[in-house]
Amino acid sequence: MFDIHLDFDLLEKCNRCGACYDICPSCLNIDGYDPRAVIKDILNGNAGRWLTSVHIYQCLECHHCLEICYQNYGFENAMTAMRLRAARQGIHPPQVRRGWDMFVKTSRLGEPSLAARKKLGLPEPRESGKEEFLKLLEVYRMRRHGPSPCLRER
Ligand code: SF4
Ligand code: SF4
Repeated sequence: MFDIHLDFDLLEKCNRCGACYDICPSCLNIDGYDPRAVIKDILNGNAGRWLTSVHIYQCLECHHCLEICYQNYGFENAMTAMRLRAARQGIHPPQVRRGWDMFVKTSRLGEPSLAARKKLGLPEPRESGKEEFLKLLEVYRMRRHGPSPCLRER
């Protein structure tokens, strides 16, 4: 039983197709990155062995596979589902946790370099929208779990 929603009929077709290998930058450039191997194991009930694999974090989410897919599916759905499953089980890499903590705190994944932007002739970045993000996060958490202790304290 797979605990993240995935359409197994689409996964079956994807497993038989493989057209995306020719346009997926990770497939073309990273040894061992093989979405159909992951899909095959999801279908066989052996997905657990990928939860600690670096490969599920090597999808760039570039959406090329979604764009070309004749069934409007995309390899990335399987990789995203595996990352979500790993996160739910608390076995994601520490960098993912750090990135999430920073995003919740600042609504950014990193601070833009003003000097580099100036050098490139780019305008100053817009405000992060942190307050709106925190409101949305609170609504989401309320719906899922009730009020979040950390947000109640704000
Ligand atoms: S979204 Fe991921 S799986 Fe799809 S083409 Fe990009 S890197 Fe490959
Ligand atoms: S995502 Fe679509 S095009 Fe790519 S391998 Fe799967 S079924 Fe084929």
